[in-house]
Amino acid sequence: MAYKSDSEIASEAAKLPIRDVAAKLGIAVEDMLPYGHDKAKISRQFIDGLTDRPSGKLVLVTAINPTPAGEGKTTTTVGLGDALNRIGKRACICIREASLGPNFGMKGGAAGGGYAQVIPMEDMNLHFTGDFHAITSAHNLLAAMVDNHIYWGNEQQIDLRRVVWRRVVDMNDRALRQITCSLGGVTNGFPRETGFDITVASEVMAILCLATDLDDLGRRLGDMIVAYRRDRTPVYCRDIKAEGAMTVLLKDAMQPNLVQTLEHNPAFVHGGPFANIAHGCNSVIATTTALKLADYVVTEAGFGADLGAEKFFDIKCRKAGLKPDVAVIVATVRALKMNGGVAKADLADENVEALRKGCANLGRHIANMKSFGVPVVVAVNHFAGDTEAEIQALQDYAKARGVEAILCRHWADGSEGAVDLAQKVVQIAESGGAEFAPLYPDDLSLFAKIETIAKRIYYADAVLADTAIRNQLKEWEDQGYGHLPICMAKTQYSFTTDPDRRGAPEGHSVPIREVRLAAGAGFVVVICGEIMTMPGLPRQPAAEAIGLNVAREVVGLF
Ligand code: ADP
Ligand code: MG
Repeated sequence: MAYKSDSEIASEAAKLPIRDVAAKLGIAVEDMLPYGHDKAKISRQFIDGLTDRPSGKLVLVTAINPTPAGEGKTTTTVGLGDALNRIGKRACICIREASLGPNFGMKGGAAGGGYAQVIPMEDMNLHFTGDFHAITSAHNLLAAMVDNHIYWGNEQQIDLRRVVWRRVVDMNDRALRQITCSLGGVTNGFPRETGFDITVASEVMAILCLATDLDDLGRRLGDMIVAYRRDRTPVYCRDIKAEGAMTVLLKDAMQPNLVQTLEHNPAFVHGGPFANIAHGCNSVIATTTALKLADYVVTEAGFGADLGAEKFFDIKCRKAGLKPDVAVIVATVRALKMNGGVAKADLADENVEALRKGCANLGRHIANMKSFGVPVVVAVNHFAGDTEAEIQALQDYAKARGVEAILCRHWADGSEGAVDLAQKVVQIAESGGAEFAPLYPDDLSLFAKIETIAKRIYYADAVLADTAIRNQLKEWEDQGYGHLPICMAKTQYSFTTDPDRRGAPEGHSVPIREVRLAAGAGFVVVICGEIMTMPGLPRQPAAEAIGLNVAREVVGLF
């Protein structure tokens, strides 16, 4: 059977006018800021007026350690949201916006897939409502003001060798990773080495996604460190006086974007921080707004649960005071087989033994989610090649651990395929069994926080860090940053720092390569392994196949 592509399904879909989607959440026309007929931002005044309302139930969709293709977290988030609406709950989806870089690099959108998608997916994967443009502009305004400050006399005594604020562009462009700027003579400033990151890696993006309102946004922007002086004291964004103008540039980008699913249910698509050097989930303001408007909010965290869910809990939920009610762990037969040692090329063959072996990976994620006090259900995202024996083995495994693994066919069938999952989620959420608590307290030392994550979530024996790194952490504690949570940056393919060690390894050590302070976003980034903040394009970028057809429709985008 030939399947339709994600974009074929999306382009054939009928859309409701966005005001009708907004009406489902009780948002009136005057509270919307429409962007065309099928997208709208929600006004600040309306959101400010929601504070005293009770909050709905929060459902996190996370996953086992994935295959390179992803396991269908977004697809399942959308399918579950639609299925909750189908069984009569008022449910809203909250996911991230897409970055242009990956769109033109490797195929794979951010709007879900099959019959569980958010539309208009083309807009969402391209310029959308301009949020990333605003973030890019705000970020680069600060960069321009830093260089300008140096040019006009450098009153802050910035050490030219220690300017840490780089520039950003929303593109995969390896040529810009490391550059020399200000060449060409005295009127162009002082030549120095710098570089570009992709927009989603900007601290401004992380801040937009964690800020509770515009005041909080402005304060956090001011707190960002842009450079150091010769005596190593930090120069902040506020020393350059850029945070006011940056806040102005970001004022509309702060407002959540409302769109719809293929089944016309509301979806907030807002913010898109990297899941490695940032926390990898949609904005706090979108999630908290959705919680005030819906009975159920279904949201997604990037990567597998060891990285994505841990950061969702320990960074986003901790900072925003969110209390998740259920965690849905997406598992696929093919990813479990891969975790059981099967090579990517052999995934099509039935292999119950490898699947059973790979289930150890699922088992650990189940235990980890429970250790945060959040009840778990497993969503088995059904792929066409899965065999009955494999699915049965997976369900038996989960059952033996006291968790239900529910077969879901939302990719092929839309909401109808996820009704069982929706009913289970409701049953768990309404039983009120969740007692969410972050993994570690604020007042633990930074190094002890890293050790806690490594030992309790990754099952490592030790964290390896040389004196320079330990001293750096100590210095930040002395400067008053000790209360911050940790943002781990490591491979998403393994509990270890080695992407090839799948399954549920233990007894490994976690070597720290580098630590970075995101003083405005409010976390300490701990880098274990190679972290790319400016990706490159592959040999044959997806862009080569993208274009307009005779009817002037976009082709080749997924
Ligand atoms: P994640 O959020 O985990 O990265 P996505 O939901 O974005 O994953 O899905 C990644 C890709 O896999 C999408 O192109 C989607 O259409 C596809 N996909 C998801 N679920 C299925 C399925 N059950 N069968 C076939 N393809 C699927
Ligand atoms: Mg996703």
